[in-house]
Amino acid sequence: MVVQKYGGSSVADVTRIQRVAERVMATRRAGHDVVVVVSAMGDTTDDLLALAKQVSPNPDRRELDMLLTAGERIAMALLSMAIRELGGDAISFTGSQSGIITNDRHVDARIIEVRPFRVQDELARGRIVVVAGYQGVSYRREVTTLGRGGSDTTAVAMAAALGAEYCEICSDVDGVYTADPRLVPAARRIGTLSYEETQELAEAGAKVLNAQAVEFAKEKGIAIYARATASPLPGPDPSADGTVVRVHPPRMPGTVVGVASEKDVIVLTAARPEPVEGRALLGLLDAHTVAGKQLHVVGDHLTLVVSRENLHEEARVRAALTTRFGDAVRILDTLGAVSVVGAGINASFENVRRGADALEAAGIAPQATATSSFRITWMVERGKVEEAVRVLHRGFIEAQQALLP
Ligand code: ADP
Ligand code: ASP
Ligand code: MG
Repeated sequence: MVVQKYGGSSVADVTRIQRVAERVMATRRAGHDVVVVVSAMGDTTDDLLALAKQVSPNPDRRELDMLLTAGERIAMALLSMAIRELGGDAISFTGSQSGIITNDRHVDARIIEVRPFRVQDELARGRIVVVAGYQGVSYRREVTTLGRGGSDTTAVAMAAALGAEYCEICSDVDGVYTADPRLVPAARRIGTLSYEETQELAEAGAKVLNAQAVEFAKEKGIAIYARATASPLPGPDPSADGTVVRVHPPRMPGTVVGVASEKDVIVLTAARPEPVEGRALLGLLDAHTVAGKQLHVVGDHLTLVVSRENLHEEARVRAALTTRFGDAVRILDTLGAVSVVGAGINASFENVRRGADALEAAGIAPQATATSSFRITWMVERGKVEEAVRVLHRGFIEAQQALLP
């Protein structure tokens, strides 16, 4: 049993869909049962979001889900047809038909369980099953989406529900790199990563694997093979031409495995909230389903970083904040986050100091710093984020490259 996921760029046009169909058929010929999870073609999801914004600056979240799920439905049907054209016996299913049950948090839903009965029935009939990524259905039978990049999560959840040992995530890059190879030409592919390392990289903004998918894989013990769609099927050592994410023997503590960044964040600060007001602020954000990361409350000072990725009603949230809190809550919209990731990198403050020194030497002044046991994050001017990634990659990774398998 093999579960393969193909991202949007891998199915961006008819030729690419046909190539994916050929790879699926090759997998089938190698004797596997195959479940294929597919993303929307190319920039379809972005285009649909832009369309929604033209109709409504604060689009209703349920209706957004109705719209966005159409993207993956198009891709699944076309891929299924392309496989049939090659003589394969394929059938496509929406998330709902595949039994992907989620909570009802529209646009950013979480998978609660998978009941893949129809998928199993079709596999038993010898069919290739094509599943629409990024979508599910709530207990109330409302259609939901899983947040940007959510097809990865669909694939891992399917692999777990079907008892597959691993899940192939096929994309335009041949694995997880030490930094986004589009930003850092010197970035190298990492052969093996632990779940924790990968999850931190994903949460810090490395788009190649979705953070929730990695969390799911870790929970269910599914290995992830991140590979290029253009690369061959995994051989005996899939880390030779891709990245394998699973439980690994620990690296030398303090090894930095990668640098990741996120530009599309806003920072909320509340200078003098009364204790109750701080909670009222979080309550308001929850009521608008705003997902925060990195909350800090010290005395009467609160800061919160919010990723814009799944925030589609920003104007409405801003208006609600102003109405309720006036000037007490400020929104900083000029910063981005740059992070270095590795187990035990904060055993001492050496890495924090080293990173700050490197940034300052490059003329980049960090506005804020936050650490966890796996990560150091600096907030810098948004226009400096890419340069900061290159500076930190040079300072941490290129200096120690030999340490990474
Ligand atoms: P897909 O459509 O296949 O899901 P994504 O666009 O979501 O693909 O993710 C792949 C992209 O992630 C790559 O094109 C690359 O530019 C970017 N990326 C960011 N960080 C990394 C990283 N550390 N390693 C590899 N790719 C990365
Ligand atoms: N099509 C969705 C997105 O663009 C899901 C995915 O690609 O994983 O976010
Ligand atoms: Mg993706």
